[in-house]
Amino acid sequence: MKRRLLVVLAALLVGAALGSLSCAPAPPRSVILIVIDTLRADHLGLYGYQRPTSPELDAIAQQGAVFENAFATSPWTLPSFGSLFTGRLPAEHRAGWRSGGADEGRSFLPMRDGVATLAETLAATGRDTGAIMNNAFLHPDFGVARGFQTYDHIGGNRRKIRRADEVVDSTLEWLRKEDRGDFFLVVHFFDPHLNYDAPEPFRGRWGADIDAEERNELMDLRPLRQRIRQGEEIDWDFLVGAYDEEIAFVDQEIGRLWRALQDSGTLAESLVVLTADHGEEFNDHDGFEHGHTLFDELVRVPLVVWGPGVEPGRRTAPVSLIDIYPTVLGALALPAQDGLPGRSLVPHLKGDSPPLSRTLIAERTLYGQHRESALAWPYKVIFEPQRGEVMLFDLESDAAERQDIAHLRSDIADDLLAQLEAYRQHAESIALEEAVEPDEKTLENLRSLGYIQ
Ligand SMILES: [Zn+2]
Repeated sequence: MKRRLLVVLAALLVGAALGSLSCAPAPPRSVILIVIDTLRADHLGLYGYQRPTSPELDAIAQQGAVFENAFATSPWTLPSFGSLFTGRLPAEHRAGWRSGGADEGRSFLPMRDGVATLAETLAATGRDTGAIMNNAFLHPDFGVARGFQTYDHIGGNRRKIRRADEVVDSTLEWLRKEDRGDFFLVVHFFDPHLNYDAPEPFRGRWGADIDAEERNELMDLRPLRQRIRQGEEIDWDFLVGAYDEEIAFVDQEIGRLWRALQDSGTLAESLVVLTADHGEEFNDHDGFEHGHTLFDELVRVPLVVWGPGVEPGRRTAPVSLIDIYPTVLGALALPAQDGLPGRSLVPHLKGDSPPLSRTLIAERTLYGQHRESALAWPYKVIFEPQRGEVMLFDLESDAAERQDIAHLRSDIADDLLAQLEAYRQHAESIALEEAVEPDEKTLENLRSLGYIQ
C-alpha cells in the first residue's frame, strides 16, 4: 500500500516536472534583425503617433515586447550599426567619422578588428548568417560585413535605392534557399532616409501632391541645408508628410514579410528584433535630417522583440542598441560574453521588468560640433567638449527637450559629465586604427547623400 502510494507520488512528481518543462518553450532557433534606417520612434502608431503611418506594425507589435525608451548610441548609421553588431559603444568599436587630420571629410574608421561581432558569434554556432543592406555606410570596407556568409549590399544614393518591396523579395529569396538551416539574418530598410519619394499609392498621401521634379528639388539635401542655414521659409509639413509616406510604405512591406514568415513556419521558431539606427529631425531643434545632435528625435528609436517565450506588452526600462547583442545570446540560451557593456533584456522579454539603474551613452556626431550625451533616466546631459556647453533635460517631464535645467540641477549634470569624462578616457586608451578611404563609387554615393563634399 505504502509502496503503491510512493509510486503514485513519484509518477505525479515526474509528471509535474515534465509538465513544467514542456511549458517552457524551446529557445528560438533563428534570429531576424530588422533595422529601418532613419526611423524615429515617435512617428509610429505604436509609439503614439496620430497619423496612421504603421497599421501593420501596430498590429504585429501587440504580439511582441515593445520597449518604450530605447536609444541609439549615435545619430547616424555607421557608429550605430557598429553598436548593434558588436554590442559596444562607438569608442570601443570605432566605426565612425574620423575627426581631425588632413584627410578629414573623406576617411572613416572601420569597425575595429578583433572585436567580436554578433554575426561571427552566431556563425560559430553553425547558423547561416546573411545581411541585406542598403546604405553606403554599410559597405563591407567599414568592417560591418564581418561574420556574414552572405552580405547582399547595395550602396544606395539619394536618387536610387533598393526599395522596401525589393528588400522583402530579396529576404524571402534568401530564406527559401533549399538547404537553409538555422540562421541569423539582418534585413535593412533604407526608404525613410532622404530622398523622400515613396511610391504609389503612398506618394502624396500626406506630403501634398506635387510633381516629381519639384519633389526632387525640395529633397535635394545640400541646397535645402543651405536654405535652412540662411533662415529661409521651409515647408516642414510637406517634408514630414513625405517622410511619413516612406514609413507607411515600409510598414506595408513589413506586413507582407511577416505573413510570409508566418506561413512558412519560420516565425514560430525565430527571435525577431525590429529597431532603427537613428531618427530624423524636422526642425525640432532648428535643424533637419540626422547626424548633427543627440536630441531624442535623433536617438530615440523603436525596439520591438518577438519570439518563443516573449511575453507581449510594453516595457518602460531605458535600453540601448548595445543591449541587443547580449539579449540575442540570452534568448538563444548561448553563453554570455565577457566585457560587453550592454545588458541582456531577456528578463524584460519574459515580462518581468526590474528597473535598470544605468547610464546610456551616445556620441559620434557627424556634423558640426562633436557632442556626447549621458542618460540616467530621466535625466539626460548633452555636452559639447569644444565649447564646454552643457545642457540637461528631464525626459519624464520634458520629452521634447525644451527646458535646459543644467543650472538648476548642476549636481545631476556634474555626475553625468563625470561619467562622460570617464568614457572619454576609456576611448583615448583604445589606439586609433587605420582609417579607410572608401572606393570612388561609395564616395559618390556618400556625396549624393550629402554626407561629404
Ligand atoms: Zn542610418
